Amino acid sequence: MTDLMPAIFFGHGNPMNALSRNAYTEGWASLGKSIPRPTAVLAVSAHWYITACAVTANPAPRTIHDFGGFPQELYEVNYPAPGSPELARHVNDMLSPVATGLDETRGLDHGTWAVLTHIFPKADVPVVQLSIDETQPPLFHYQIGKRLSALREEGVLVIGSGNIVHNLHAYAWGRHDVKPFDWAVRCEEHARELLLKGEDDALIAYETSGRDAMLSVPTPDHYLPLLYILGLRRERDAVSFPVEGVDGGSVSMLAVRIG
Ligand code: ZN
Repeated sequence: MTDLMPAIFFGHGNPMNALSRNAYTEGWASLGKSIPRPTAVLAVSAHWYITACAVTANPAPRTIHDFGGFPQELYEVNYPAPGSPELARHVNDMLSPVATGLDETRGLDHGTWAVLTHIFPKADVPVVQLSIDETQPPLFHYQIGKRLSALREEGVLVIGSGNIVHNLHAYAWGRHDVKPFDWAVRCEEHARELLLKGEDDALIAYETSGRDAMLSVPTPDHYLPLLYILGLRRERDAVSFPVEGVDGGSVSMLAVRIG
């Protein structure tokens, strides 16, 4: 029995997963039941990718429907988890001297709520989001994760939400049974090996690891949340992959649990 919270990276994939029941969402739901109940969630989502480091500090964050072209029912999803201005201030202090701003108007984006709606369906765990500062190099994001490490002793569940492999140009919209591209499979397999061996430097330097990574990570936004979770890893933490699969040929749904 340990009182150290795990840290988890989720591959969120298609926003419709918020409404779906499939192997991914069932994996998320059972993961939610397998971990200690957190006092709050701090989420780093691919969909809050801005030119600053900011933390949501709204006591009642709204549900942001930050996508286009989906069925009306997805725009009607509401995830009314409370915020936690207290945790937001705490995160702000922990990250000092990195300049962060408290954003009192920002709500929760779908990278966060599409997953949390399965993990904590009652929306009764307070949620705070931390933005990804797109002006910073990969190492910065890993180091932010390290600075937040003590949250694990404080009962806060830190999650990253993106996709290790995320190429929407190659994604087969609506055809979920397509065979994964060979470059997507190789890139994910390589990432798994590095995760299991604890080779963080190579995971941080993904931009220089060749063609498979270029095709799999054409933009950094969905990959970088993984680096925050890596930064939270302690030496003796186990690494596991509680949710697996490649959706639409080019989106890895791999979840990475640390601890
Ligand atoms: Zn996304």
